[in-house]
Amino acid sequence: MVPHRVAGRGTGARGAACRYASVTPAVPTLRIRRRPRGTRRCARRRTAASLPGSLPGWKRRDAGRLPVAARTLARVTTPRRLPSRAAAAKLARRVAAGEPALGRARRVGRMLRELAETHPDAHCELDFTTPYELAVATILSAQTTDVRVNEVTPKLFARYRAAADYAAADRTELEELIRSTGFYRNKATSLIGLGAAVVEKHAGLLPHTLDELVALPGIGRKTANVILGNAFGIPGITVDTHFGRLVRRWGWTAEEDPVKVEHAVGALVPKRDWTIVSHEVIFHGRRVCHSRKPACGACTLAADCPSYGTGPTDPAQAAVLVKGPSRERLLRLAGAPDDVPPSGTPVDAPHALVAGADQVEAAMDVP
Ligand code: SF4
Repeated sequence: MVPHRVAGRGTGARGAACRYASVTPAVPTLRIRRRPRGTRRCARRRTAASLPGSLPGWKRRDAGRLPVAARTLARVTTPRRLPSRAAAAKLARRVAAGEPALGRARRVGRMLRELAETHPDAHCELDFTTPYELAVATILSAQTTDVRVNEVTPKLFARYRAAADYAAADRTELEELIRSTGFYRNKATSLIGLGAAVVEKHAGLLPHTLDELVALPGIGRKTANVILGNAFGIPGITVDTHFGRLVRRWGWTAEEDPVKVEHAVGALVPKRDWTIVSHEVIFHGRRVCHSRKPACGACTLAADCPSYGTGPTDPAQAAVLVKGPSRERLLRLAGAPDDVPPSGTPVDAPHALVAGADQVEAAMDVP
């Protein structure tokens, strides 16, 4: 049999002729075109065929990205498994006894990935269009909800547009505008003082360094990090009561002091993620890991949480504790049963604490 001369891969520019070239000069040429790297046909076909309807808006031109997209899709849509009681108790004992740094870093890394996949909608919930507006909104958010602040700020921002406007504000009028956010006298003092200081020291422009921000009236370290992270794009960890409670509950740190918590968490989380992780932790606390009754049986972090078992571990009981606009997706991710009662339905049956979960809360001094 006369072999076909193969052109393409073994010949051409590189001059490496195929071993048949010299002996069969007249045989027909079969050209083999090289495919671009990373576009193996069979793999693409298989992946595309296995995904009908799975990726909304999937287009053929996306085919090159499908293998990665498919893996991601599988990971973010597969319901998580709850840990066994023995595994949960073992992790709780390990953390309470002082977890090795490497083990903690790996566990935190897994929890960070879970948080990102569980709360892809995490963001700053205060409405603002300029750094100064965010500073004002953050001052107003003390001891009240972001929703309440967002109700007040449209009128406020329309009336006072810049630092100089706040510096020259009529106190009574300002107090009236912000009254519904609570502590309105103190907040009015802070807003007027902030306006005056920004005009005097920074020519009316809000500074963008931590040291300069914390030197301004009404702005503490937490507010400064909110402004840096969300208005200036400079990574910052926002440690409030809820953030501190959660990271202690998860065994990320045992520190009580917010600044020490910030440094401890900063050492575990890549700097570029500081801002978004702050939002994700807060979202998880609001929706799943509540202070009194966390929904452990419907939690995507359960496998790596040393406090698993602090709340109900039965998926049906835990599911009623999950709150928020993404509740259904959270329950699906956590593998909760389909027929769960609506959020807020009383959970009657007492849950059995997983051995060791209380030790972690005690060791980390979680309130
Ligand atoms: S809900 Fe339970 S398992 Fe989930 S993070 Fe909170 S304490 Fe841990």
